[in-house]
Amino acid sequence: MSIPIPGPERAVGDLAYTVRVSRRARYARLRISPHEGLTVVVPQGFDQRQVPGLVESRRGWVEKVLGSFDQRRLTGVSDTGRELPTRIELSGIGESWTVTYRSLETKGVAARELAGEELLLSGPVDDAGLCRLALESWLRRRAAMRLVPQLERLATTYGFTYGSVSLRKQRSRWGSCSTRGTLSLNLKLLFLPPLLVRYIMIHELCHTRHMNHSRRFWAEVAKFDPDHASHDRQMRHAWRFVPGWFAVRE
Ligand SMILES: [Zn+2]
Repeated sequence: MSIPIPGPERAVGDLAYTVRVSRRARYARLRISPHEGLTVVVPQGFDQRQVPGLVESRRGWVEKVLGSFDQRRLTGVSDTGRELPTRIELSGIGESWTVTYRSLETKGVAARELAGEELLLSGPVDDAGLCRLALESWLRRRAAMRLVPQLERLATTYGFTYGSVSLRKQRSRWGSCSTRGTLSLNLKLLFLPPLLVRYIMIHELCHTRHMNHSRRFWAEVAKFDPDHASHDRQMRHAWRFVPGWFAVRE
């Protein structure tokens, strides 16, 4: 069994991954999990400068597996297709927004929050790419405003400490914790059921105490989320909660 230790995050292009050194591994191999994404397992003494090349050489396979997660999402009930949304359900933070589009001759598309959870996108709104960019930076603002404080509350309540939090739009991992205690949260958490959001936060916070998936780690998680096993199972299919318009790659 191979357990990814959340380490410093690295990336080749848009592919983020974690490197784990294994005493038992005899050669380098790639693993993908729906929760923590791509991990490169290398034997002790392996020259890690080779890792980016290795990841690049297996890109086809990685894309295929990540694509199968996408497939799961696209057949899911919450899928609204890849067209731009007129309604955005942010289940993770209990918000439901209606989106209106107003065409204006400005350079970029701006997203403005109006009363009653109404979002107004104005600018050259016939440019879907610009609209997606505006929506993404708006989601980032919502996440900073709601997800980050939620993480802080959990940490305070249960006595965890961490360095900083970063918010990322990622294809293959929901959260991570670096050896220096930097936590990252995927923006897509906004679309998940609240209990799964909480589970991911607890999971990553527990990595500040145990940088592995050992029995002690899971015992720690169980203290704060007795249903963690069920939540972890549900994470395998969680990509389907992410709407198609936000999963599109630019
Ligand atoms: Zn983990």
